[in-house]
Amino acid sequence: MTNQPASIKKKGNRELQIAWQDDHVSLYSFRFLRQNCPCATCVDEWTKKKILDEEKVPLDLWGLKVEFVGNYALHFTFSDRHGSGIYHFDHLRAICPCNSCRAAEGPS
Ligand SMILES: [Zn+2]
Ligand SMILES: [Zn+2]
Repeated sequence: MTNQPASIKKKGNRELQIAWQDDHVSLYSFRFLRQNCPCATCVDEWTKKKILDEEKVPLDLWGLKVEFVGNYALHFTFSDRHGSGIYHFDHLRAICPCNSCRAAEGPS
């Protein structure tokens, strides 16, 4: 199954809401998205380990821009000017911070 959003909404500067085609709704803070940036300076390409220090992401980080990349991903520009990550919809769905998704993932 491919994860496709039905609608994408910016809620102010701080949050992004994605409603998926299966009616699931994900609400992300831009800070959270920044912390889960998949680009090569945030995640090691080979080991997939996070290089980014999450604590260093400013608490008041906000989103400058949200753009589509083809029909499979989103691109964000954050207020710290970081903007090299391509967020595939599968990745966005996988990191959904809602309670039921977190619970489904189980302890890691
Ligand atoms: Zn990054
Ligand atoms: Zn969820």
